[in-house]
Amino acid sequence: MIDALSDFQSEHPERFLFGASVAPFAKSLDYPEEEWESDFQKMKELNITAVRCYVAWDRVEQKEGELDFHAYDHLCDLGLKYGIGIILNLGGVFSCLTGVYPPQWLVRKYGCKPPKPTPTAVAENASPRISICLDNPLYRRKAFAFMETVVKRYAENRAVIGWMSWNEPALPFCYCKDTQKRFCKWLQDKYNGNLAELNRVWGTEFPINYESWEEVQAPAGFGFTGGGLNAWRDWHLFTHWRLADAMGAVRDIVHKFDTLQRPVTSNLVHSLAYYRHTMANLNLDMAGGALDVIGLSFYTRAHTGDTFDPLHKAYCLSRYRSVSREPSRRMWILETEAGPNVRQITEPQRKLNHWMALAHNVKCFLLWIYRCRYSDNQVGNFNMMAWDGSITKRARYNGEFSKMLQSHGRLMNNVSVGRTAAVFAPELQSILTLATHGGGLVPNLENAAKELEVCTRSLKGAYKFLWDRNIPADFISEWNLRDMNQYKLILLPMTENMTPEWAEAIRQYVEQGGTVIAESPFAFKDGDNFLHGRAPFFGLEEVFGAWTNDREGRESAPKMVFDNGGTADVFFYWHEWHLTGAQVLAKYETGTPAIVANRYGKGLAVMAGTEIFRQYFSEPQEATTALLERLATEAGATPTARVLVNGDDAAGGLVEVAKLDGTEGTVYIILNHNEEERLVEVFLPEEDLTDMETGEPFDGKAFVMPPLGGRALYKENVRK
Ligand SMILES: [Zn+2]
Repeated sequence: MIDALSDFQSEHPERFLFGASVAPFAKSLDYPEEEWESDFQKMKELNITAVRCYVAWDRVEQKEGELDFHAYDHLCDLGLKYGIGIILNLGGVFSCLTGVYPPQWLVRKYGCKPPKPTPTAVAENASPRISICLDNPLYRRKAFAFMETVVKRYAENRAVIGWMSWNEPALPFCYCKDTQKRFCKWLQDKYNGNLAELNRVWGTEFPINYESWEEVQAPAGFGFTGGGLNAWRDWHLFTHWRLADAMGAVRDIVHKFDTLQRPVTSNLVHSLAYYRHTMANLNLDMAGGALDVIGLSFYTRAHTGDTFDPLHKAYCLSRYRSVSREPSRRMWILETEAGPNVRQITEPQRKLNHWMALAHNVKCFLLWIYRCRYSDNQVGNFNMMAWDGSITKRARYNGEFSKMLQSHGRLMNNVSVGRTAAVFAPELQSILTLATHGGGLVPNLENAAKELEVCTRSLKGAYKFLWDRNIPADFISEWNLRDMNQYKLILLPMTENMTPEWAEAIRQYVEQGGTVIAESPFAFKDGDNFLHGRAPFFGLEEVFGAWTNDREGRESAPKMVFDNGGTADVFFYWHEWHLTGAQVLAKYETGTPAIVANRYGKGLAVMAGTEIFRQYFSEPQEATTALLERLATEAGATPTARVLVNGDDAAGGLVEVAKLDGTEGTVYIILNHNEEERLVEVFLPEEDLTDMETGEPFDGKAFVMPPLGGRALYKENVRK
């Protein structure tokens, strides 16, 4: 799995992947095929090295058994002729297993049914637009057979450089009998065939006494009168798995039949993972496990509802990087805006986003889209080139950016972001948090989005604390618990639930010398949401050297008083600690411990009695921030560089400095996220750095960065 990307990089050492999505598309008519060759000539002129297109089953096989691949053959011929690599989107699009829509004959000839969005919905295909549940066995069999045909056809075609298993994966719940059958099987595996255990875990909101697995039904809701939380949690996890499993099935077909073993990727969408978590069911952790290289859609302006401030962009990029199974954690951007839509990205915004993505380990840019669609509702939107295929000003500046990257391709492909600090963010916690704080009752998109936004401020606050200080930050979730020891510092925001596995990972990490900082409420419920009398439990009381058994709200809160006399407010809840070995870092005015620290093994475990990370996001308290800074420094979680912005300490000044390292050399990328210019001074240990765009030596002096400016300084290692 990992080898596919490594092989790819060694086969294309100098080529930096930069290009756009081209026809054939999966929906709407394509621009004329007679013009494709002149398009490729222009791509060459624009330093484009890669393109991407869809292999849409419903367009290739409009009548069962009659397959028409002429467009793909033609595209591959052009790719070989002009030296431009092609990434084929083989599998799903959104919630459809292949292309945006399945072939119509599956419904007319075989009567395949659409997903059932609620337990009582009537599922019939009754309009020209059809859909089919991806658990339908006949559909799966025929779809996977089609994919096998495609992979075999291009298995030795060197124009193809990679595969996409899925475009923007998402999967709503489905209550059809095929899906329920798979759910039942999934539950039997999860509960080791122990139905009594399922009855115990599910039967908390009201008693449940299923007598056979066939009686088990998927929950329709959760909350105060909606149903039990644990059934809902399992339904979520199952649907997450169902999507990742389908992505994995496509990946496996490629691995099995692609002679050249090219990497498999997919453009994950952050808003499908978080802001619409309830409906979209994209589990980044699981999806990452189904890919050779992490890919993403990176829209920051052109989509309705995008609210991507610099922090949020950085957060997303770090979150994606953290689910990469590839050792260097390279990422590919498979879609990012090029042209006009509801909002137009400007040249400075576009270039800053390119630089920012590079700073976070992106090794491929494919813009959406090269030329615009020829029909239906996106005609004239997103396109980089003009309607008739001629070169625009925006195509020129993107082409110039690619030219610069091509001249540093080997270096940029082989440097990566190091590991310093991480934020603990298990996927299970996000499900439980949403279910607990998301208002309950029937899942509601807008409500869920709003509530989760409030909940994620803890996560974002923890990330922001690190990002504001240029301390490189990753995320720890279920899959990489064992990687904790690669970090100096781990922050534990909003970790209300605790599992034995998480607790043991935290314990071992601290014992071996790591530093953790937890905010409260912390570890007072287990993974089944059962209360445990005292917190934290599962052995963490010993690690943190203190416990609590209650909390109060801010209305009754005293101030926190620090050793140096500084004071700070609590945020919402506040807990008093009973010490079993911890030292007190801050007290409440009443004299009881508020923030405590415990030496455990070779490490340090710190626990705050209030939501210090959520507070940092919206109402930072100077004294608390100063304590966090001291703890980070003592843990060895140091910034990439010391930076002055307009002569002042840079923390929170929206100037980001990233460091990428590798066998080929070192690169610093400096980003001014401000809409105004800034005087920036960076203190770097390396001498003889060169500016990547101008080729001029860097003199180490303060320099003016334009609004939304990006700059790279590099030093190549002497190759032996
Ligand atoms: Zn279904």
